Amino acid sequence: MPALSEVLTALDALWPAERAEGWDAVGTVCGDPAAQVERVLFAVDPVQAIADEAVSLGADLLVTHHPLYLRGTTTVAASTVKGKVVHTLIRGGIALHVAHTNADTADPGVSDALAGALDLRITGPLVPDATDPHGRRGLGRICELPHPMTLAELTAHAAARLPATAQGIRAAGDPERVIRTLAVSGGSGDSLFDAVRAAGVDAFLTADLRHHPASEATQSVGAVPPALLDAAHWATEWPWCEQAAAQLDAVSDRHGWGLRTHVSRTVTDPWTAHAASVPPTPTHTTGAPR
Ligand SMILES: [Zn+2]
Repeated sequence: MPALSEVLTALDALWPAERAEGWDAVGTVCGDPAAQVERVLFAVDPVQAIADEAVSLGADLLVTHHPLYLRGTTTVAASTVKGKVVHTLIRGGIALHVAHTNADTADPGVSDALAGALDLRITGPLVPDATDPHGRRGLGRICELPHPMTLAELTAHAAARLPATAQGIRAAGDPERVIRTLAVSGGSGDSLFDAVRAAGVDAFLTADLRHHPASEATQSVGAVPPALLDAAHWATEWPWCEQAAAQLDAVSDRHGWGLRTHVSRTVTDPWTAHAASVPPTPTHTTGAPR
């Protein structure tokens, strides 16, 4: 059985901490480097439900995509939400390690897993990492669909392939438009519209699209603007957990560690309900604009 320090070295090799954004908080949050590791749980969010799941699983290490503390704190008292997570993990003998923006830009990274879940063929990064001599690392991925689909079909395809959430998938654009090329970016991607336009793709799938950036991205003079698909943030990043677990399995096999990796299926997207609006019905013409 490997020591936590050995497993952390392997995780750092997969997602080097120095490739994280300057504002990010990646790496090991808690854990004794000398502790032995057998069971590892992968999840998107280090929330209480996931900490509890790690305890009932008997995990020794929890690896999450999102940081527990993005900014500094002066307390880990169990009377605080995040402090309770820390207490739960330490009492359970469970280390917590975070791979966030360093996993976003990795090869393979978060968007490779998202593209894989959608059966897409990746042609390159959406925003290449200038320091990668192979041109494969970077934010987002530009992809080709396995076969052309209408926007309506692609929206249904994404809803069927990504893990189920209350939000599902919403789309912006002509539902009958034929989509052949798609940019994807796991997590909040509305800062990437310039790159999406420059890539000339038919559509862009990401999460957390806000009114103004989405509205502006769907208007244009001349070139046809990309159609947009907006999925639940958690759903776009969950496929990375399976990919990451498989990567650690491969390392474990190479070293003969015998690690047992698990992927949490607990939906931690904060949105828990959704109702489609009642379709507009034809109304009488009194007061109609002239
Ligand atoms: Zn995220």
